[in-house]
Amino acid sequence: MSSVAVVSSENMDEKQQSVSTPVVQAAAAKVNLLGMSRPELEKFFEDLGEKKFRAGQVMKWIHQYFVTDFAEMSNISGKLREKLEKICEIKAPEVVHRNYSKDGTRKWVFRVGDGEGSLVETVLIPAEDKTGARKTLCISSQVGCALDCSFCSTGKQGFQRDLTPAEIIGQLWMANYSYMEDVPVAERERTVTNVVMMGMGEPLLNYDAVLSSMQLMLDDFAYGMSKRRVTLSTSGVVPKIDQLAQDIDVALAISLHAPNDELRNELVPINKKYPLQQLIAACQRYLAKDGNESARRHVTIEYVMLDGVNDQPEHAQQLLKLLKNLPSKINLIPFNPFPHAPYGRSSRNRIIAFQKTLSDAGFVCTIRQTRGDDIDAACGQLVGQVADRTRRAEQWKKKVAQQQEILRTQG
Ligand code: SAH
Ligand code: SF4
Repeated sequence: MSSVAVVSSENMDEKQQSVSTPVVQAAAAKVNLLGMSRPELEKFFEDLGEKKFRAGQVMKWIHQYFVTDFAEMSNISGKLREKLEKICEIKAPEVVHRNYSKDGTRKWVFRVGDGEGSLVETVLIPAEDKTGARKTLCISSQVGCALDCSFCSTGKQGFQRDLTPAEIIGQLWMANYSYMEDVPVAERERTVTNVVMMGMGEPLLNYDAVLSSMQLMLDDFAYGMSKRRVTLSTSGVVPKIDQLAQDIDVALAISLHAPNDELRNELVPINKKYPLQQLIAACQRYLAKDGNESARRHVTIEYVMLDGVNDQPEHAQQLLKLLKNLPSKINLIPFNPFPHAPYGRSSRNRIIAFQKTLSDAGFVCTIRQTRGDDIDAACGQLVGQVADRTRRAEQWKKKVAQQQEILRTQG
């Protein structure tokens, strides 16, 4: 078994293309097969003059047996294996930090990109449910985020770059592999049962890479996950919700967080572009697409509970009205504070009262358990120690420093 890679081939490709030496030719960058969907891999084999079905074989080795060394792919001829070794590779992003908590939560920090690169985080949260043991992986889609929601530390970091399909699916690969490292190849299994695209970034603003990664999650030759167990969370990029409805059948979660446009404009600024009425209509179209057979029987409404901001009885009443004609399940998320956040977490009693108003009106309304606290791994709050280098991060730091100065002089 070869070790996990350090630099993704996409980046190597960029680097090597920019260096042109007339005498010594740099060795061609290898193609990374990890992030390729089935159609892409089939084309890859056809272009090599091989049969299409090789794609499925190789996908199984990569995504079901977690093999990165072509020599171990025993149903592929020696000649083809040699050829593949020369021109391609299977590389997950480099793990720079991992932390496995006593409660079963696991967290990884990956380095993506060249040199120092950027850091992204992934967290796995286990839970018991009626169908047995669930292991939910919270996956990142971008480094940072451009949308700047006021309660979100990823937003404060600014946008750095999109993740590639290999970097997105690499998070799922690594989480599964972490349970199978010491298991003989033939006995390996896929352990992660659920995926939520709720880590860093706005998945619908990295659409193509996220789509092909989710296709791999559902593909029987790869992870073969149930479409109801793959959830995309968005803050509401309306045109992309419609595109998603055409392209794939997965569960949809909406980061709503406010029941009226005035408050939502403040908390989730993309609301100014796509206000609530448009967002709710897009959710209705999404659910209408394939009827009951699909993953789209309801949307999940995420609502972060901010003390004194969006947690009052009138907000619950407004929410009831807003969601009246949208089959939805509501998930109340206790706010996860980060240094110098401008909000506090609603009290337990306030959250329970809010939940009661919604449940009494017939909505399924849950309160998200905060898990993995001992390793700072709560989903939606994954950027604790990640370095940020954007202008927005600089402005944020300046603002915090100014506030501290005011507090100091006042105190
Ligand atoms: N950009 C997407 C997906 C990533 S955010 C989206 O906004 O939906 C994943 C979830 O975590 C969102 O519901 C987000 O609103 C929530 N979240 C972000 N910061 C949080 C915080 N400080 N405390 C609790 N939840 C937070
Ligand atoms: Fe981006 Fe989602 Fe954070 Fe908003 S909540 S800034 S969309 S990651």
